[in-house]
Amino acid sequence: MQHDERYMRFALEVAKTGLGQTAPNPAVGAVVVKNGEIVGFGAHLKAGEPHAEVHAIRMAGDKAKGATVYVTLEPCSHFGKTPPCADLLVETGVKRVVIATTDPNPLVAGKGIEKLQNAGIDVTVGVLKEEADELNRIFFHYITTKTPFVTLKYACSLDGKIATKTGDSKWITSEEARRDVHSYRALHDAILVGVNTVIADDPRLTVRLSEGGKNPIRIILDTHLRTPFHANVIQDTEAETWLIVGSDVPKERMALYEKPHVRIIPMNAPNIDIRELLHMLAEQKVTSVFVEGGSRVHDSFVQAGAVQEIVAYFAPKIIGGNDARTPVGGVGFAKMADVLELTIKRIETIGSDIKVVAIPKIK
Ligand code: NDP
Ligand code: ZN
Repeated sequence: MQHDERYMRFALEVAKTGLGQTAPNPAVGAVVVKNGEIVGFGAHLKAGEPHAEVHAIRMAGDKAKGATVYVTLEPCSHFGKTPPCADLLVETGVKRVVIATTDPNPLVAGKGIEKLQNAGIDVTVGVLKEEADELNRIFFHYITTKTPFVTLKYACSLDGKIATKTGDSKWITSEEARRDVHSYRALHDAILVGVNTVIADDPRLTVRLSEGGKNPIRIILDTHLRTPFHANVIQDTEAETWLIVGSDVPKERMALYEKPHVRIIPMNAPNIDIRELLHMLAEQKVTSVFVEGGSRVHDSFVQAGAVQEIVAYFAPKIIGGNDARTPVGGVGFAKMADVLELTIKRIETIGSDIKVVAIPKIK
């Protein structure tokens, strides 16, 4: 239909208001249209709270009967924390439902659409599907792979260095780029760094945007529990900190770090295996991880094939030096045939820097 895209675009905008705060649920938007007039809209804002369709139908009130509902994700058909939205749409007596994309959740997949069609509702699927899939890439990945979505982020000079030879890295990029990093943090459930980054930079790993934003869990890979007590991630209580350690760290040492916001999580092996870690995090309902370095940690994620998106900032500066670190260090790949190949999704200028967003090529 002629206006489907326009209303769906609005539904996507509405859905975006919930981004970063709906985990482990997707961000969803719904718009109710009657006789060419928008009579209701709504977004899912938090797990456990009403779904987008419920808000939109409530706002529309009596006008919802016979209306068309635009929804960015297939309406749910199962009893979760709230009753199924497909039932609500049927009971309300809407005439038509336009859906951007189907729900990969095996509990829902296709069943919501079926329910609507069985009730005689006219259903259209696939309007602005690409945009809707992009919006919920974290949720879709988590649901289908049962591991968190991993975004690898780094900021480097134009000659590809993430710090000087002495380890100084404050600051490589402009303030605008650093602000952009904070909005990425707010979108993820967890931020992860290696213990060397904590020792070198003592980052706070919190979200500091003028408009606020929730703080993700701070995760430190620290096999032997070397994180200094005075580190910001231990001393400030603004966010939870999870210290991931190997199986050999003595209990007495762990006890030293006892604080309400600090958790020490030992792995089952002496070293931290990235795949195992991701499975463990998924069990803890962590749906996304923003990996902020350093270079060894990046290498481990790349080697484990555990990267879904790369966000790289390039500053117009030359740092130079053989001993200055690059974004991905560690062991690297030996042959070009084995390297991680990427597709560039977006390039933007941000402040004085360039931002590149890339995703691994599907082989
Ligand atoms: P990392 O921060 O990557 O930490 C690596 C350490 O983490 C390892 O030595 C290891 O220590 C621990 N670790 C535990 N498990 C793993 C695992 N599975 N894979 C990898 N590491 C693991 O250290 P780097 O020295 O590579 O990088 C630090 C430097 O990077 C600093 O100078 C910092 O300033 C810079 N940096 C720059 C950024 C930028 O964007 N410009 C961002 C982040 C850092 P152990 O064996 O003790 O557990
Ligand atoms: Zn629902």
